[in-house]
Amino acid sequence: MRIRVENLWVTFKNKVALRGVCLDLFGDGAQVVALIGPSGAGKSTLLKLLKGMVRPSVGKVWVGSFPLHEGGGEGLQQVRKRTGMIYQTFQLIGRLTVLENVLIGRLPHLNLTQGLLRQFSEQDLAQAERLLEEVGLLEHAWQRADALSGGQQQRVGIARALIQEPALILADEPISALDPKNAQVIMDLLLGMVCRQGIPLLVTLHHLEMVRHYANRVVAFKDGQVFFDGPVSALTSEKEKDLYFGEEEASQTLGGLPSALTA
Ligand code: ADP
Ligand code: MG
Repeated sequence: MRIRVENLWVTFKNKVALRGVCLDLFGDGAQVVALIGPSGAGKSTLLKLLKGMVRPSVGKVWVGSFPLHEGGGEGLQQVRKRTGMIYQTFQLIGRLTVLENVLIGRLPHLNLTQGLLRQFSEQDLAQAERLLEEVGLLEHAWQRADALSGGQQQRVGIARALIQEPALILADEPISALDPKNAQVIMDLLLGMVCRQGIPLLVTLHHLEMVRHYANRVVAFKDGQVFFDGPVSALTSEKEKDLYFGEEEASQTLGGLPSALTA
C-alpha cells in the first residue's frame, strides 16, 4: 500500500511535531522502511497519523487511495482496519488470555453486536490458532497475557497485527524493550512474516546495525523534518553522526509555521 505525504504539518497546542514533511513510501518496491532519528523527532507522530489516530494540521496524506486529510467516515475506518500496529510496550490486555489478545485484532472486522458480544467466527479462531503456532505460542494460548515474558508478549503483538489482514504494518520501536537476543528473534519473526505475505512495513528502530540488516530504505527525522531519505547504503556514518549529534536545525517553536496554522 503506497503512502504519500505532501507538506505535512502536525502541531499539538504550541508544539510543532512535524514540519513540512514530504514522503512517498512503498511505491518503489521497497518493502521494509526504517524510520530513525533522535527522540522527539516526530516518528511516533507520523505513525499515529498514518493509523488515523492524529489529524494533519496542514498538508495532504494518502494511505493507499484514501485521502486521510479529508478525514472521517467509512474510508478512515477502512484505513484503521487494514493498518496493523505494533508497539514498544506491546499494549496487551494483561488479564485476558493470549488467544483473546490475538482476537482483539479482529474486532474492527466485526459488526457492533458481534463486537460487543465478542462473537468471533470459527475462521477467526482457527486463524488466531494458526498465527499463535507461527509465532511459537500455541501452547500458551490459554495463559493470561501478563504471565508472558517481554519477547513472548511482542510475539502476541505480531499475531494481533497479522490477524487484521493488514495492508500495512506500522511498528513503533518494536524491540526497544527487549534484550539483544530477543530483539533479533522478534525482528526475524516479524520480517519473515511480512515478507512472506508481501505486507509493507514501516518500523522505527534505534539500532543502526538492525536498520542495515533488515531495511531496504531509511527515512531519518530530525526536529520534525525529513533529514535523510534513501537506500540504507547511502546512510554514511557521517550522516548518522550528524543526525544524532549535530546541531539542532530548527527549534520546536511555532517559527516558520504556515499562515494556515497561525490564523
Ligand atoms: P519521537 O517518536 O520521534 O520520539 P514524537 O512523535 O513522539 O517523537 O514527538 C514529536 C514531538 O511532538 C515531541 O516534541 C513531543 O513532545 C510532541 N508531542 C507528541 N505527541 C504530543 C501530544 N499528544 N501532545 C503534545 N505534544 C506532543
Ligand atoms: Mg516515539
